[in-house]
Amino acid sequence: MNKFFELNKEEIIKFLKSKDEDRTQLLKRSQEVKIREVGNKVYFRGLIEFSNICSKDCLYCGIRKGNAKVLRYNATDEQILEACRFAWENDFASVVLQSGELSSPAFVERVDSLLKKIKQLSNDELGITLSCGEQSMETYRRWFKSGAHRYLLRIESSKRELYYKIHPKNEIHSFEKRVEALGFLKEAGYQVGTGVMIGLPFQSYEDLADDLLFMKKLDIDMCGMGPYIEHEDTPLYKYRNLLKSKQERFDLALNMIAVLRLLMPDINIAAATALQAIDPAGREKALAVGANVIMPNLTPCKYREEYKLYENKPCLDEDAELCRNCLEARIELAGAEIGFKEWGDSRHFFNRTKSNL
Ligand code: SAH
Ligand code: SF4
Repeated sequence: MNKFFELNKEEIIKFLKSKDEDRTQLLKRSQEVKIREVGNKVYFRGLIEFSNICSKDCLYCGIRKGNAKVLRYNATDEQILEACRFAWENDFASVVLQSGELSSPAFVERVDSLLKKIKQLSNDELGITLSCGEQSMETYRRWFKSGAHRYLLRIESSKRELYYKIHPKNEIHSFEKRVEALGFLKEAGYQVGTGVMIGLPFQSYEDLADDLLFMKKLDIDMCGMGPYIEHEDTPLYKYRNLLKSKQERFDLALNMIAVLRLLMPDINIAAATALQAIDPAGREKALAVGANVIMPNLTPCKYREEYKLYENKPCLDEDAELCRNCLEARIELAGAEIGFKEWGDSRHFFNRTKSNL
């Protein structure tokens, strides 16, 4: 293994803080490593935010249970399947089903039945990623059996102390349970994705370096991480004066992606939507560095206004078709190719499971 990939904490911090010529070098190196290890293709995952009903109260999130201003919705099966059909017919190859966190038997059953219907409508061709929060081992196994094969569960911050600054300190927001859930997902056979928010109040460079080392230690297959963006109807908003500027958070997010690509050369890294909330070309900039996955929004337009995790969430009024065209053009401009019709699974997953045999 190339020594360059075994960065220690001090080296990581130095990279995260890098500016000007040093930063240009870092971003360039990350792009080279990406192209060498996973190629120059960008894979699409059509994002369907199918419900904003959530049982949790994460202090940063616009759709937290305690935000009474949000109109709650639950897309119908038909609407969800229509979005999946769009993805399939447009050769996206994969979808992500994301929602607030519920664990009622009815919710578990519903996701299970949706998975089966999506597989059916696409002749088993659509790959399915889930992002529905913490669930029991039994539920994860059940959904895996019904066709989900990737799962995104961000740790948000791997530093316990900071985790409890951005979540209520109680049973349903337990840091230990979140870490445990990531273990369950691995055991159930998923390609596991995690990630953190970058530029949170009270977060230091050292914390971010530890986050990257946490991901490396956990041996994750995929990562989605982006800047934290304040939302005025959340408790964390009161600390907005402590935040770095949006541009600084954006630059730091790109540095994080670049360093992660060096640390974990063969994983999939998503260009988070939150990047686009700061810079209209934000996701493409991430794709030109270490990222190789993008999640075009296929949520039915009438619901998008109510799935505002943070301020300035982009593409609120674009329909799926427009989104696709604008994305294609932008990705080509960024010099990458789109992996239409390909699942574009995490190479790391195959490498790690092969070596476990
Ligand atoms: N309920 C699920 C999935 C939906 S939330 C879960 O929490 O895992 C998806 C992600 O949105 C979260 O993991 C979080 O990292 C991100 N998010 C929420 N609020 C945000 C904010 N204010 N700024 C940036 N990202 C945010
Ligand atoms: Fe719910 Fe996820 Fe938002 Fe937390 S981050 S409040 S679990 S939607």
